[in-house]
Parts: sequence; structure tokens; C-alpha cells
Amino acid sequence: MECVFCKIISGQIPAAKIYESNRIISFLDISPANKGHALIVPKRHYGTIFEVDERDLRELAEAIKRVSSAIAAATHSSGINILSNIGEDAGQVIKHFHIHIIPRFKDDGISFEWKSKKYEEGEMENLRKRIKEFL
Ligand code: ZN
Repeated sequence: MECVFCKIISGQIPAAKIYESNRIISFLDISPANKGHALIVPKRHYGTIFEVDERDLRELAEAIKRVSSAIAAATHSSGINILSNIGEDAGQVIKHFHIHIIPRFKDDGISFEWKSKKYEEGEMENLRKRIKEFL
């Protein structure tokens, strides 16, 4: 078993746990973007959100609300980023699906800004239809 999160879940590697249920665990990131940055991780090993079962998803959503509220209160943050990197090109490093909860503060130097792209004529409507076909 190579996965570092599975090792944390099984107790082989210690972690600063802040929340745990039968299906979900949350612990502080050891390389935080800001202090209080936590990860929320389903205990079952899923590579991406595409494989996560419905029950784990529901409990994940509940954990996101509880943990992010607690982090905001504990750190007195003025904002929170809730995000997940899915796939290598999106920056996923640990191949066990997880959500980042990052407390934010005024002028904290973190930026998730991107340069917007423009749709060609009709391109947005075509893409909208194509996405809907897969829903
Ligand atoms: Zn894993």
C-alpha cells in the first residue's frame, strides 16, 4: 500500500486529525498555504471525485461545512477557499481524492486568479449542449 492518505487513515502515519467519522477524515495539511489549511478525505481510496459513491459524497459535503466553519472560527479568517485538484494537469499530487479547506486573510499573498478565455461565436452554446449530453 503506497498511498500516504491510506496510511494516515489506517494509523501507520500520524496526522493532526481534526474530524473523523466512519467514512471521512480531516487533518491539517503539513505544508499549509495558510495556517489552519486542512484536508478532507474519504476513507475509501478513490482516485478522483468521479468514482466517489453517493453516501461518501453526502458525508463529505457535511464534513466540508463543519470543518470549514470550525477553521474559520478558530483562525478568525475573513474568507475560506474550498477546492480540489482533480488530475495531474489540475495539480493533484496525492492520488487519493481530497478537498482542501484554506482559511484566507486580507493580503495573505495567495492567488487563484486566472486570465479569462473568450468563446468564439456559437462555441459556448455547443459546449453547453455537449456537457448536457453527459449529465
Ligand atoms: Zn489512498
